[in-house]
Amino acid sequence: MKEEKSKRKKKQGEGKKGSGILTDKLFSDLPISDLTANAIRDMNYTHLTEIQARSIPPLMLGSDVMASAKTGSGKTLAFLIPAIELLCRLRFSPRNGTGVIVLCPTRELAIQTHNVAKELMRYHSQTLGYVIGGIDLRGEAEQLAKGINVLVATPGRLLDHMQKTKSFKYECLKCLIIDEADRILEQNFEEQMKQIFKLLPRQGRQTVLFSATQTEKVEDFAKLTFGSKEERQRTLVY
Ligand code: ADP
Ligand code: MG
Repeated sequence: MKEEKSKRKKKQGEGKKGSGILTDKLFSDLPISDLTANAIRDMNYTHLTEIQARSIPPLMLGSDVMASAKTGSGKTLAFLIPAIELLCRLRFSPRNGTGVIVLCPTRELAIQTHNVAKELMRYHSQTLGYVIGGIDLRGEAEQLAKGINVLVATPGRLLDHMQKTKSFKYECLKCLIIDEADRILEQNFEEQMKQIFKLLPRQGRQTVLFSATQTEKVEDFAKLTFGSKEERQRTLVY
């Protein structure tokens, strides 16, 4: 019975364990920079997963996107590829400060996401870093002072730096990504998230919200994240 199930999964195009269902869309057909394309090739990915195929195109067009897909479906690359392309197109350099923030519910997930971003950005000149709880605030502040273009963070620690670290430059933020929104809510980060939204620039910023599950709480949270519906159209990917 188990064997049958795994065969069926393979038929549907499942690649290596945990990679989600692969589509017939190729990374090499995406309108992305050679720098990113080469990094993806180094990572040995050829075909996009379903969530990647459905969310990368609207994200690359600059839309706000709210997407949900189960764990292991490839959400990390779905939001990182367009984010890195955006900063590359804008020629972001350290003096521009932080252009993309990726918020994660836990330190472990932040480090994992940072590691994927590191691979993806290996040929890019843009800078990458993280601020997570449990690590010396001052050490992180020194890194922020150098200008971290793509910043992976946990909400509590991000807010700390927004309030206390003078050298943290985030006025040029172009894209805010909230990963695992459902888990962020479970961890009771809601109040901190509200404060973060208040402090971040709204103008000209793309907002992206990913979650593994669709719950009413996530829906409510989305309203808070994206502002009123009239303000900006958002693309839903489920
Ligand atoms: P999620 O965030 O949806 O839980 P991840 O982004 O962590 O999923 O990806 C799950 C696994 O799938 C990772 O091991 C990743 O390397 C792999 N993966 C992601 N995209 C692809 C792809 N296009 N082809 C093959 N494997 C992939
Ligand atoms: Mg994930």
